[in-house]
Amino acid sequence: MAIDSKTRVVILGAGVIGLTIGHVLTEGDGGSRFNVTVVARDMPEDLSSQGFASPWAGANWSPMQYDERLHGWERHTFDKLWDMIPTGLVLKCPSRIYFETQDAFGAAWWKDIVRDFRVLPDDGGLPPDVNSVVEFHTVCLNPTLYLPWLKSQLEARGVNFVKRRIGSLDEIGEMAGDAGVVINATGLGARSLIGVEDTKVHPIRGQTITAYAPNATEFITVIPNPPKGDDATYLIPRPAPPGSVLIGGTFQTHNWDTSVNMHTAREIWQRAVAVVPALAEPETRILSHNVGLRPAREGGPRVEAQVVEMPSKGELVPRLSDREEGQKKNVLVVHAYGFGPAGYQQSWGAAEEAVKILKENLPEYK
Ligand code: FAD
Repeated sequence: MAIDSKTRVVILGAGVIGLTIGHVLTEGDGGSRFNVTVVARDMPEDLSSQGFASPWAGANWSPMQYDERLHGWERHTFDKLWDMIPTGLVLKCPSRIYFETQDAFGAAWWKDIVRDFRVLPDDGGLPPDVNSVVEFHTVCLNPTLYLPWLKSQLEARGVNFVKRRIGSLDEIGEMAGDAGVVINATGLGARSLIGVEDTKVHPIRGQTITAYAPNATEFITVIPNPPKGDDATYLIPRPAPPGSVLIGGTFQTHNWDTSVNMHTAREIWQRAVAVVPALAEPETRILSHNVGLRPAREGGPRVEAQVVEMPSKGELVPRLSDREEGQKKNVLVVHAYGFGPAGYQQSWGAAEEAVKILKENLPEYK
Protein backbone atom coordinates (compact mmCIF):
# COMPACT_ATOMS: atom_id res chain seq x y z
CA MET A 1 0.00 0.00 0.00
CA ALA A 2 1.43 3.39 -0.92
CA ILE A 3 2.20 5.69 2.02
CA ASP A 4 -0.43 8.22 0.82
CA SER A 5 -3.21 5.65 1.03
CA LYS A 6 -2.42 4.88 4.66
CA THR A 7 -4.52 6.44 7.41
CA ARG A 8 -2.45 9.02 9.20
CA VAL A 9 -2.51 8.58 12.99
CA VAL A 10 -0.86 11.07 15.33
CA ILE A 11 -0.38 9.79 18.87
CA LEU A 12 -0.03 12.65 21.33
CA GLY A 13 1.95 11.30 24.28
CA ALA A 14 4.95 8.98 24.61
CA GLY A 15 4.27 7.48 28.01
CA VAL A 16 3.52 3.78 28.39
CA ILE A 17 -0.03 4.30 27.09
CA GLY A 18 0.82 6.21 23.88
CA LEU A 19 3.70 3.83 23.09
CA THR A 20 1.66 0.68 23.71
CA ILE A 21 -1.18 1.98 21.52
CA GLY A 22 1.43 2.63 18.80
CA HIS A 23 2.64 -0.94 19.21
CA VAL A 24 -0.81 -2.49 18.89
CA LEU A 25 -1.70 -0.21 15.98
CA THR A 26 1.34 -1.22 13.92
CA GLU A 27 1.08 -4.96 14.63
CA GLY A 28 0.34 -7.34 11.76
CA ASP A 29 -1.19 -5.56 8.78
CA GLY A 30 -1.50 -2.35 10.86
CA GLY A 31 1.98 -1.40 9.68
CA SER A 32 0.78 -1.18 6.10
CA ARG A 33 -2.54 0.53 6.94
CA PHE A 34 -1.44 3.26 9.32
CA ASN A 35 1.17 5.98 9.00
CA VAL A 36 1.95 6.65 12.68
CA THR A 37 3.72 9.61 14.30
CA VAL A 38 4.23 10.00 18.04
CA VAL A 39 4.35 13.62 19.21
CA ALA A 40 5.29 14.38 22.82
CA ARG A 41 6.97 16.86 25.09
CA ASP A 42 8.57 14.04 27.13
CA MET A 43 10.09 11.14 25.23
CA PRO A 44 11.00 7.63 26.44
CA GLU A 45 14.64 8.72 26.72
CA ASP A 46 13.71 11.65 29.01
CA LEU A 47 13.83 9.30 31.95
CA SER A 48 14.53 11.97 34.55
CA SER A 49 11.63 14.22 33.47
CA GLN A 50 8.92 14.69 36.06
CA GLY A 51 6.74 16.03 33.25
CA PHE A 52 5.33 12.55 32.79
CA ALA A 53 4.49 9.62 35.02
CA SER A 54 5.85 6.63 33.17
CA PRO A 55 9.54 6.71 34.22
CA TRP A 56 8.62 6.80 37.92
CA ALA A 57 6.40 3.73 38.16
CA GLY A 58 7.18 0.57 40.16
CA ALA A 59 6.30 -0.91 37.79
CA ASN A 60 4.46 -4.13 38.40
CA TRP A 61 1.06 -5.82 38.26
CA SER A 62 -0.53 -5.48 41.66
CA PRO A 63 -4.20 -5.96 42.58
CA MET A 64 -6.34 -2.83 42.81
CA GLN A 65 -10.01 -2.39 43.71
CA TYR A 66 -12.23 -4.56 41.53
CA ASP A 67 -13.69 -2.69 38.55
CA GLU A 68 -15.55 -4.64 35.89
CA ARG A 69 -14.34 -2.42 33.02
CA LEU A 70 -10.69 -2.55 34.05
CA HIS A 71 -10.66 -6.24 34.94
CA GLY A 72 -10.42 -7.36 31.30
CA TRP A 73 -7.60 -4.92 30.53
CA GLU A 74 -5.69 -6.10 33.59
CA ARG A 75 -6.10 -9.78 32.79
CA HIS A 76 -5.00 -9.26 29.18
CA THR A 77 -1.99 -7.18 30.23
CA PHE A 78 -0.92 -9.72 32.84
CA ASP A 79 -0.97 -12.54 30.26
CA LYS A 80 0.90 -10.43 27.71
CA LEU A 81 3.64 -9.44 30.18
CA TRP A 82 3.87 -13.00 31.53
CA ASP A 83 4.62 -14.19 28.00
CA MET A 84 7.40 -11.58 27.79
CA ILE A 85 9.34 -13.01 30.75
CA PRO A 86 11.80 -14.89 28.48
CA THR A 87 12.86 -11.57 26.87
CA GLY A 88 14.39 -10.47 30.19
CA LEU A 89 12.35 -7.23 30.14
CA VAL A 90 9.83 -8.69 32.57
CA LEU A 91 10.64 -10.36 35.88
CA LYS A 92 8.64 -13.35 37.14
CA CYS A 93 8.33 -11.93 40.60
CA PRO A 94 7.64 -13.90 43.80
CA SER A 95 5.11 -11.83 45.73
CA ARG A 96 3.54 -11.55 49.13
CA ILE A 97 0.71 -9.35 50.41
CA TYR A 98 0.19 -8.80 54.12
CA PHE A 99 -3.44 -8.05 54.92
CA GLU A 100 -4.26 -6.27 58.13
CA THR A 101 -7.88 -6.27 56.92
CA GLN A 102 -10.29 -9.15 57.59
CA ASP A 103 -11.78 -9.48 54.13
CA ALA A 104 -8.65 -10.27 52.13
CA PHE A 105 -9.90 -13.43 50.52
CA GLY A 106 -13.37 -12.34 49.56
CA ALA A 107 -11.70 -9.51 47.68
CA ALA A 108 -9.24 -11.79 45.90
CA TRP A 109 -10.95 -11.43 42.49
CA TRP A 110 -7.49 -11.37 41.01
CA LYS A 111 -6.33 -14.75 42.29
CA ASP A 112 -7.02 -16.34 38.89
CA ILE A 113 -5.06 -13.63 37.05
CA VAL A 114 -1.75 -13.94 38.90
CA ARG A 115 0.09 -17.27 39.00
CA ASP A 116 0.59 -19.78 41.85
CA PHE A 117 -1.77 -17.97 44.26
CA ARG A 118 -1.95 -19.46 47.72
CA VAL A 119 -3.03 -18.39 51.18
CA LEU A 120 -0.32 -19.02 53.74
CA PRO A 121 -1.45 -21.11 56.70
CA ASP A 122 -1.77 -19.15 59.91
CA ASP A 123 0.67 -21.09 62.05
CA GLY A 124 0.95 -18.31 64.59
CA GLY A 125 4.00 -16.74 62.95
CA LEU A 126 2.28 -13.77 61.33
CA PRO A 127 3.66 -10.27 62.05
CA PRO A 128 1.70 -8.15 64.55
CA ASP A 129 -1.53 -6.62 63.12
CA VAL A 130 -1.44 -8.98 60.11
CA ASN A 131 -4.52 -11.16 59.71
CA SER A 132 -3.54 -13.08 56.62
CA VAL A 133 -0.82 -13.42 54.00
CA VAL A 134 -1.11 -14.47 50.36
CA GLU A 135 1.70 -15.57 48.08
CA PHE A 136 1.74 -15.60 44.27
CA HIS A 137 3.86 -14.73 41.25
CA THR A 138 3.36 -11.46 39.42
CA VAL A 139 5.21 -9.49 36.70
CA CYS A 140 7.61 -6.60 37.38
CA LEU A 141 9.19 -4.16 34.93
CA ASN A 142 11.86 -1.49 34.96
CA PRO A 143 10.37 1.53 33.12
CA THR A 144 13.83 2.88 32.31
CA LEU A 145 14.42 -0.22 30.16
CA TYR A 146 10.86 -0.92 29.06
CA LEU A 147 10.01 2.54 27.65
CA PRO A 148 13.11 2.73 25.39
CA TRP A 149 12.37 -0.85 24.28
CA LEU A 150 8.82 0.12 23.28
CA LYS A 151 10.20 3.11 21.35
CA SER A 152 12.78 0.97 19.55
CA GLN A 153 10.03 -1.46 18.53
CA LEU A 154 7.99 1.37 17.04
CA GLU A 155 10.99 2.86 15.24
CA ALA A 156 11.70 -0.53 13.69
CA ARG A 157 8.15 -0.43 12.31
CA GLY A 158 8.66 3.00 10.74
CA VAL A 159 6.93 5.12 13.40
CA ASN A 160 8.21 8.73 13.53
CA PHE A 161 8.85 10.60 16.78
CA VAL A 162 8.51 14.38 17.10
CA LYS A 163 9.51 16.04 20.38
CA ARG A 164 7.21 19.02 20.81
CA ARG A 165 4.84 20.53 23.33
CA ILE A 166 1.34 20.88 21.92
CA GLY A 167 -1.00 23.60 23.16
CA SER A 168 -4.33 22.58 21.67
CA LEU A 169 -6.23 19.82 19.93
CA ASP A 170 -6.26 22.07 16.85
CA GLU A 171 -2.47 22.07 16.71
CA ILE A 172 -2.28 18.29 16.78
CA GLY A 173 -5.28 18.07 14.43
CA GLU A 174 -3.25 20.10 11.91
CA MET A 175 -0.42 17.55 12.16
CA ALA A 176 -2.88 14.73 11.48
CA GLY A 177 -4.00 16.50 8.29
CA ASP A 178 -7.23 15.81 6.44
CA ALA A 179 -8.81 12.45 7.31
CA GLY A 180 -6.16 11.82 9.95
CA VAL A 181 -6.80 10.52 13.45
CA VAL A 182 -5.51 11.85 16.78
CA ILE A 183 -4.89 9.66 19.81
CA ASN A 184 -4.84 11.68 23.00
CA ALA A 185 -2.57 9.85 25.46
CA THR A 186 -1.45 12.91 27.40
CA GLY A 187 -1.93 11.72 30.99
CA LEU A 188 -2.10 14.78 33.24
CA GLY A 189 -1.70 16.95 30.13
CA ALA A 190 -5.37 16.29 29.30
CA ARG A 191 -6.25 18.78 32.01
CA SER A 192 -4.74 21.77 30.21
CA LEU A 193 -4.75 20.77 26.53
CA ILE A 194 -7.06 23.29 24.84
CA GLY A 195 -10.07 21.50 23.44
CA VAL A 196 -9.90 18.72 26.07
CA GLU A 197 -9.58 20.61 29.40
CA ASP A 198 -10.69 17.65 31.47
CA THR A 199 -10.99 18.93 35.04
CA LYS A 200 -11.56 15.38 36.33
CA VAL A 201 -7.86 14.75 35.71
CA HIS A 202 -5.65 15.12 38.79
CA PRO A 203 -2.32 13.89 40.19
CA ILE A 204 -1.70 11.28 42.83
CA ARG A 205 1.77 12.08 44.10
CA GLY A 206 4.07 9.11 44.60
CA GLN A 207 7.36 9.51 46.45
CA THR A 208 9.70 6.51 46.22
CA ILE A 209 13.25 5.30 46.84
CA THR A 210 15.35 3.32 44.37
CA ALA A 211 17.92 1.05 45.92
CA TYR A 212 20.41 -1.73 45.28
CA ALA A 213 19.14 -4.44 47.63
CA PRO A 214 20.22 -7.86 46.33
CA ASN A 215 18.61 -9.71 49.24
CA ALA A 216 15.14 -8.21 48.75
CA THR A 217 13.82 -10.40 45.98
CA GLU A 218 10.05 -10.46 46.59
CA PHE A 219 7.32 -7.97 45.77
CA ILE A 220 5.91 -7.12 49.19
CA THR A 221 3.03 -4.85 50.07
CA VAL A 222 0.87 -4.26 53.11
CA ILE A 223 -2.87 -3.58 53.05
CA PRO A 224 -3.33 -1.65 56.29
CA ASN A 225 -6.38 -1.53 58.54
CA PRO A 226 -7.47 1.16 58.96
CA PRO A 227 -5.98 2.81 55.83
CA LYS A 228 -2.99 4.92 56.93
CA GLY A 229 -3.67 8.29 55.29
CA ASP A 230 -1.60 8.78 52.15
CA ASP A 231 1.00 6.14 52.98
CA ALA A 232 1.58 3.02 50.94
CA THR A 233 4.16 0.40 51.86
CA TYR A 234 5.65 -1.68 49.07
CA LEU A 235 8.88 -3.02 47.59
CA ILE A 236 9.13 -3.99 43.93
CA PRO A 237 12.19 -5.89 42.64
CA ARG A 238 13.21 -5.11 39.04
CA PRO A 239 14.33 -7.42 36.26
CA ALA A 240 17.52 -5.36 35.76
CA PRO A 241 20.02 -4.09 36.72
CA PRO A 242 20.64 -6.99 39.14
CA GLY A 243 19.60 -6.22 42.71
CA SER A 244 17.61 -3.07 41.87
CA VAL A 245 14.37 -2.40 43.73
CA LEU A 246 11.82 0.39 44.06
CA ILE A 247 10.51 1.17 47.54
CA GLY A 248 7.31 3.09 48.17
CA GLY A 249 5.75 5.24 48.97
CA THR A 250 2.98 7.75 49.07
CA PHE A 251 -0.42 8.07 47.46
CA GLN A 252 -1.22 11.79 47.77
CA THR A 253 -4.29 12.75 45.79
CA HIS A 254 -4.39 16.28 44.25
CA ASN A 255 -0.79 16.95 45.32
CA TRP A 256 1.28 18.50 42.47
CA ASP A 257 4.54 18.83 44.46
CA THR A 258 7.38 17.19 42.53
CA SER A 259 10.06 17.94 45.13
CA VAL A 260 11.44 15.23 47.41
CA ASN A 261 10.41 15.46 51.06
CA MET A 262 13.22 13.91 53.14
CA HIS A 263 10.99 13.49 56.19
CA THR A 264 8.66 11.40 54.01
CA ALA A 265 11.69 9.51 52.65
CA ARG A 266 12.72 8.49 56.17
CA GLU A 267 9.19 7.28 56.92
CA ILE A 268 9.06 5.27 53.68
CA TRP A 269 12.39 3.66 54.52
CA GLN A 270 11.43 2.79 58.10
CA ARG A 271 8.11 1.23 57.05
CA ALA A 272 9.84 -0.80 54.34
CA VAL A 273 12.58 -2.12 56.65
CA ALA A 274 9.89 -3.22 59.13
CA VAL A 275 8.30 -5.53 56.55
CA VAL A 276 11.45 -6.43 54.55
CA PRO A 277 14.23 -6.92 57.13
CA ALA A 278 16.63 -7.90 54.29
CA LEU A 279 16.79 -4.19 53.42
CA ALA A 280 18.78 -3.57 56.58
CA GLU A 281 21.61 -5.84 55.44
CA PRO A 282 24.98 -4.17 54.74
CA GLU A 283 24.91 -4.76 50.96
CA THR A 284 21.94 -2.38 50.54
CA ARG A 285 22.61 1.03 48.94
CA ILE A 286 20.03 3.78 48.50
CA LEU A 287 20.47 5.12 44.97
CA SER A 288 17.91 7.91 44.64
CA HIS A 289 14.83 9.58 46.05
CA ASN A 290 12.08 10.19 43.51
CA VAL A 291 8.70 11.78 43.00
CA GLY A 292 6.27 11.01 40.18
CA LEU A 293 2.70 12.15 39.62
CA ARG A 294 0.21 9.42 38.75
CA PRO A 295 -2.20 10.78 36.10
CA ALA A 296 -5.55 9.91 37.67
CA ARG A 297 -9.08 10.79 36.65
CA GLU A 298 -12.28 10.93 38.68
CA GLY A 299 -14.43 8.07 37.40
CA GLY A 300 -11.42 6.20 35.99
CA PRO A 301 -9.58 6.17 32.66
CA ARG A 302 -11.15 7.76 29.59
CA VAL A 303 -10.88 5.49 26.57
CA GLU A 304 -13.38 6.61 23.98
CA ALA A 305 -13.77 8.22 20.57
CA GLN A 306 -14.90 11.77 20.02
CA VAL A 307 -15.43 13.55 16.74
CA VAL A 308 -14.10 17.03 17.41
CA GLU A 309 -15.03 19.98 15.27
CA MET A 310 -11.89 22.03 14.69
CA PRO A 311 -11.11 24.79 15.43
CA SER A 312 -12.09 23.31 18.78
CA LYS A 313 -13.84 25.36 21.42
CA GLY A 314 -11.79 25.93 24.53
CA GLU A 315 -13.33 27.50 27.61
CA LEU A 316 -10.74 30.28 27.50
CA VAL A 317 -10.58 30.71 23.70
CA PRO A 318 -14.02 31.99 22.68
CA ARG A 319 -12.57 33.73 19.63
CA LEU A 320 -12.11 30.34 17.94
CA SER A 321 -15.87 29.82 17.76
CA ASP A 322 -16.09 32.92 15.54
CA ARG A 323 -14.18 31.29 12.69
CA GLU A 324 -15.58 31.09 9.21
CA GLU A 325 -17.77 28.05 8.48
CA GLY A 326 -15.41 27.06 5.61
CA GLN A 327 -12.43 26.67 7.94
CA LYS A 328 -14.10 23.96 10.00
CA LYS A 329 -13.30 20.26 9.83
CA ASN A 330 -14.11 17.19 11.90
CA VAL A 331 -11.28 15.17 13.38
CA LEU A 332 -11.58 11.76 15.02
CA VAL A 333 -9.91 11.85 18.42
CA VAL A 334 -9.48 8.67 20.47
CA HIS A 335 -8.85 9.58 24.09
CA ALA A 336 -6.73 7.28 26.27
CA TYR A 337 -5.73 8.91 29.54
CA GLY A 338 -6.42 8.92 33.27
CA PHE A 339 -4.81 5.58 34.20
CA GLY A 340 -3.72 6.78 37.65
CA PRO A 341 -1.79 4.11 39.57
CA ALA A 342 -2.25 1.33 37.01
CA GLY A 343 -1.06 2.50 33.58
CA TYR A 344 1.42 -0.34 33.16
CA GLN A 345 -0.86 -3.10 34.36
CA GLN A 346 -3.69 -1.93 32.12
CA SER A 347 -1.53 -0.87 29.16
CA TRP A 348 -1.94 -3.76 26.72
CA GLY A 349 -5.66 -4.24 27.38
CA ALA A 350 -6.39 -0.51 27.17
CA ALA A 351 -4.32 -0.19 23.98
CA GLU A 352 -6.27 -3.03 22.33
CA GLU A 353 -9.49 -1.25 23.26
CA ALA A 354 -8.29 2.14 21.94
CA VAL A 355 -7.25 0.59 18.61
CA LYS A 356 -10.56 -1.30 18.35
CA ILE A 357 -12.46 1.96 18.92
CA LEU A 358 -10.28 3.72 16.35
CA LYS A 359 -10.97 1.06 13.71
CA GLU A 360 -14.71 1.00 14.47
CA ASN A 361 -14.80 4.71 13.66
CA LEU A 362 -12.94 4.50 10.35
CA PRO A 363 -15.09 4.07 7.24
CA GLU A 364 -12.89 1.33 5.75
CA TYR A 365 -13.41 -0.91 8.80
CA LYS A 366 -17.19 -0.42 9.00
P1 FAD B 1 2.42 9.68 31.07
O1 FAD B 1 3.47 8.68 31.35
O2 FAD B 1 2.27 10.81 32.04
O3 FAD B 1 2.71 10.25 29.61
C1 FAD B 1 2.05 11.38 29.09
C2 FAD B 1 2.70 11.75 27.78
O4 FAD B 1 1.97 12.85 27.21
C3 FAD B 1 4.14 12.25 27.92
O5 FAD B 1 4.90 11.88 26.80
C4 FAD B 1 3.96 13.78 27.95
O6 FAD B 1 5.11 14.50 27.54
C5 FAD B 1 2.87 13.90 26.90
N1 FAD B 1 2.14 15.16 26.95
C6 FAD B 1 1.24 15.59 27.89
N2 FAD B 1 0.78 16.80 27.55
C7 FAD B 1 1.39 17.15 26.39
C8 FAD B 1 1.32 18.30 25.54
N3 FAD B 1 0.52 19.32 25.83
N4 FAD B 1 2.11 18.34 24.45
C9 FAD B 1 2.92 17.29 24.13
N5 FAD B 1 3.03 16.19 24.91
C10 FAD B 1 2.27 16.13 26.02
N6 FAD B 1 1.42 1.71 37.21
C11 FAD B 1 1.38 0.37 37.20
O7 FAD B 1 0.68 -0.23 36.38
N7 FAD B 1 2.09 -0.38 38.10
C12 FAD B 1 2.87 0.22 39.06
O8 FAD B 1 3.52 -0.47 39.84
C13 FAD B 1 2.89 1.64 39.11
N8 FAD B 1 3.62 2.25 40.07
C14 FAD B 1 3.68 3.62 40.07
C15 FAD B 1 4.45 4.26 41.05
C16 FAD B 1 4.59 5.62 41.03
C17 FAD B 1 5.42 6.30 42.09
C18 FAD B 1 3.98 6.38 40.00
C19 FAD B 1 4.19 7.88 39.92
C20 FAD B 1 3.20 5.77 39.05
C21 FAD B 1 3.01 4.39 39.09
N9 FAD B 1 2.20 3.73 38.18
C22 FAD B 1 2.16 2.37 38.15
C23 FAD B 1 1.30 4.48 37.28
C24 FAD B 1 1.87 4.63 35.88
O9 FAD B 1 3.16 5.18 35.96
C25 FAD B 1 0.95 5.55 35.06
O10 FAD B 1 -0.39 5.10 35.12
C26 FAD B 1 1.37 5.55 33.60
O11 FAD B 1 2.74 5.85 33.50
C27 FAD B 1 0.55 6.56 32.81
O12 FAD B 1 1.03 6.56 31.49
P2 FAD B 1 0.50 7.59 30.43
O13 FAD B 1 1.18 7.24 29.15
O14 FAD B 1 -0.98 7.66 30.47
O15 FAD B 1 0.97 9.03 30.96
